[in-house]
Amino acid sequence: MLQDRLMPPCRDCKKEWTFTVLEQALQIERNQENDPSRCPECRDKRKARRDRGEVQGRNGRHDQTFYQATCAGCGGPAKLPFKPRNDRPVYCQDCHRRNRMAG
Ligand SMILES: [Zn+2]
Ligand SMILES: [Zn+2]
Repeated sequence: MLQDRLMPPCRDCKKEWTFTVLEQALQIERNQENDPSRCPECRDKRKARRDRGEVQGRNGRHDQTFYQATCAGCGGPAKLPFKPRNDRPVYCQDCHRRNRMAG
């Protein structure tokens, strides 16, 4: 049975915080093994800053999200900078180039 837990000081504001049953349930649902090291408020703040693009990726620039798809030409993996749609075939870079050269 879950119960509210008093957590060690938050990494950002150094205040002790309560890990509520609700949050613990969410953590289990998301398969997160590690306990959060920040209080909910600081996590929200960080998330808000990330959403505004103030917190940057490891390389100091925005990581582009790629979608994994199967190439309709060769059946190999294709990386797409956009979300693939089921009603259109997608091609890997090689096939894309080949298509362009053929057409
Ligand atoms: Zn905090
Ligand atoms: Zn291909």
